[in-house]
Amino acid sequence: MVRIFGESPAKKKPAPKKAAAPPGEQGLLLYIHVPFCKSRCRYCSFHSQAFNQVTYAWYLKTLLMEIDIWGRRLQRPAVQTVFFGGGTPSLAPAHDLDRIMAALRQAFRLREDAEISLEANPDTVDAAYFRSLLAMGVNRLSIGVQSLADKDLALLGRTHSARQAVAAFGLARQAGFANIGLDLIWGLPGQRLRHWMDQLKTVTRLKAEHLSCYGLSLEPKTALAGMIKDQALRMPSDRELANMYVSGSEFLESQGYIQYEISNFARMGFFCRHNLGYWEGRDYLGLGPSAVSTIGPRRFTNPRYMDAYDAAVRGGFVGQDFEVLDKAAKIREMVMLALRTTKGLDLREYARASGRDLVKSNQALVQELYKNNLIRIYKGRLRLTKNGMLVSDAIIARLAP
Ligand code: SF4
Repeated sequence: MVRIFGESPAKKKPAPKKAAAPPGEQGLLLYIHVPFCKSRCRYCSFHSQAFNQVTYAWYLKTLLMEIDIWGRRLQRPAVQTVFFGGGTPSLAPAHDLDRIMAALRQAFRLREDAEISLEANPDTVDAAYFRSLLAMGVNRLSIGVQSLADKDLALLGRTHSARQAVAAFGLARQAGFANIGLDLIWGLPGQRLRHWMDQLKTVTRLKAEHLSCYGLSLEPKTALAGMIKDQALRMPSDRELANMYVSGSEFLESQGYIQYEISNFARMGFFCRHNLGYWEGRDYLGLGPSAVSTIGPRRFTNPRYMDAYDAAVRGGFVGQDFEVLDKAAKIREMVMLALRTTKGLDLREYARASGRDLVKSNQALVQELYKNNLIRIYKGRLRLTKNGMLVSDAIIARLAP
């Protein structure tokens, strides 16, 4: 046994505990929006623009100013999670991300155990990039794989191949990432159940800690929505979609993934703390163009376009134009977010917040949903079944009108 400084193991001091946050100070969730992509994917409606050096340099400068403003305004609050999302955050050079991390550490108190996630696209990364991310404190990766079939990737307008996606995962693992999530999309035009299940079988062999499986949503004004409208492509039927969702979820569970939200699965201990924070209704601060924040009852959205965003930051009025969420809106949101999770809605908490008994005041509806195997009530929590999750929007709209 190797002794360190001659100390015997018996005398070794206990390892210092990880930062225990003072009560009531779990910390903010921080979201950093990086609004640049190589090109536009055909299904995407997020706010992003083609990467160009001049706009990117402008963005970086403004973002660093915004970080400083919020640190001072909120008096350097504790932060429990940081999430770099986009866009394609991995288009940002590592030394710039390092500057952003340093600015965050200066402006906020990042908890020692903070979860720091970054979304990466397979064709924008290499081994050195991953090592740099780890060195600056990024401890969770979310890789945008979307499909392991090149035909699907071409249809979606992705700029990488399936082989590149698998290679990016391998490089991240080799670099030392112990918490990697992969994003996939199901329900693509022309997709059949067997094809989706084959994808899942292949992806589970990679043994990622986390899998997000999003059903394709046809957003208005996207190229893909146009192709469906023009009947150039055909979406799977509702029955096929339901089979993909239910069979896919059951398969992932059989492989040791726990479903903790409608579209999210993870091995024990690897739930995404940042997203869970959203669903649990915690405060979050979004930085960057178009980022949304909710702090207490105040909700505000940053301007979408660079010139307006820059003007708001320079003028110091970023976040000053907010809406106040009233009690009814807060309760509606509580129901909507809790029902997305497999833990479901705590009925006592709902009664405390609203002064109403959800089950009694919706008796006929609750009975109907229960009889149709769409909801279950267990140990004081109302949650959606897998079939219920398939029609979650409709159920939530009726329970939280
Ligand atoms: S990489 Fe992501 S954010 Fe960028 S266009 Fe594609 S889906 Fe949208």
